[in-house]
Amino acid sequence: MEEAGKDFRSLLMRLPAVDELLKSAEGRLWLSLYPRRYVLMAIRERLEALRLEIRGGGQPPRDQAAVASGVEALIKKYTAPSLRGVINATGVVLHTNLGRAPLARAALENVAGIAKGYSNLEYDLAKGKRGKRHSHLRRLITDITGARDATVVNNNAAAVMLALSTLAGGRQVIVSRGELVEIGGSFRIPDVMAQSGAVLVEVGTTNKTHLRDYERAIGPDTALILKVHQSNYRITGFTSDVPIEELVALGAKHRLPVMYDLGSGCLYDLRPHGVGAEPVVSEVVKTGVDLVTFSGDKLLGGPQAGIAAGSEEVISKMNANPLARALRIDKMTLAALEATFFLYADPETAASEIPVLRMLLEKPQTIRERAQRLASGIGAGADVSVEVVSDSSEAGGGSLPGVSLPTWAVSVRSGRLTPNRVEESLRTGTPPVIARIKADALLLDARTVGDEEVPALAARLSGILA
Ligand SMILES: *Cc1c(COP(=O)(O)O)cnc(C)c1O
Repeated sequence: MEEAGKDFRSLLMRLPAVDELLKSAEGRLWLSLYPRRYVLMAIRERLEALRLEIRGGGQPPRDQAAVASGVEALIKKYTAPSLRGVINATGVVLHTNLGRAPLARAALENVAGIAKGYSNLEYDLAKGKRGKRHSHLRRLITDITGARDATVVNNNAAAVMLALSTLAGGRQVIVSRGELVEIGGSFRIPDVMAQSGAVLVEVGTTNKTHLRDYERAIGPDTALILKVHQSNYRITGFTSDVPIEELVALGAKHRLPVMYDLGSGCLYDLRPHGVGAEPVVSEVVKTGVDLVTFSGDKLLGGPQAGIAAGSEEVISKMNANPLARALRIDKMTLAALEATFFLYADPETAASEIPVLRMLLEKPQTIRERAQRLASGIGAGADVSVEVVSDSSEAGGGSLPGVSLPTWAVSVRSGRLTPNRVEESLRTGTPPVIARIKADALLLDARTVGDEEVPALAARLSGILA
């Protein structure tokens, strides 16, 4: 026992001291590159791990360089940002877990320009006095949607909540049972309704709701008729729901406001391109609906935001609600959204400049060529098969439910590594790559991979498969 203890001690003594490592050439380099707190944390963790190893019977590292290399890896781990860019090879264009909509260049440039300095965020330059934050987007949104007035909050869940609180706080809202959606596990229309203080009155059955169901539910306590887009699912078969036009007529008859939560809110007509059957927002507004709400970062392709467009009466009440202050957008969102909306002033510019629209509308042949470039960039070994295969991708993010987009993907099989192993390596390396597994192969959908990402993605795969 005595001997073994002495042995440990002499081995432990051979480890460098914290100070020694800090003063070494490597240590001085680390201190010039990284915050001191993380350099120290990494050194201490590395030395502690080595002490444990020695106590467990291991040998100390050969030299200081061997100690240092372990420290460097830990410093990198501690100083790597948590929020990182990833390559989306899933083919899901609006991937909620991957940040939904990538922004257009014009939006990025506007954010950088506005955020780096001061701005007239709440200042009226013509009058030289306090101005209104939501005034900046009002004209563009009303131009493009045809609504009389508009306001913007943090996300569409907030827009729905603000609208319900404003129009129906403490009173009843009539909604079809088939439209009580849950989006992404956390946004449930009934829960948002409860938070807003509105009382839910469900009408109809899951698959069928008729106009007479709404009409029967109207009473002295009714404040609002609400229609909700069935965003991420589609009831098929024996179904019927009431078109917004009929609800607008019903609202007019009973002097009740009608609201339509569109969820995605499409500003560019995708139908002529054979992509889905989504009406554009201006068509919905034309029905005379009092209020529509939709997301900034779904089909619109902008930053996270919730847009409420409707009558002047409804919008001014919403802006006056104290909740509006808590749900307001910041200047970066405003800058990104204004630039994105401006692109819609010319629909063809929107289609080519807004990444979400570009990816949804991309020709299969273009996707196929990108997949081929990716496939030929993968330096595969003898036991690896790399093929370009046809597949289908989806819009995602609760948009265009049931619409499948023909696409091309690179299918990778390795004789040595399971698809799960390859998927994990791709996901945990730099840059992280998110891919799918299908029929025992790793599948990389070229729809959501940028041309400029192809070389990096090919290099990552070559490295893993080699
Ligand atoms: C996505 C969605 C929402 C929530 O919008 P966020 O911008 O994600 O907050 C609300 N309603 C519907 C119908 C949706 O599809």
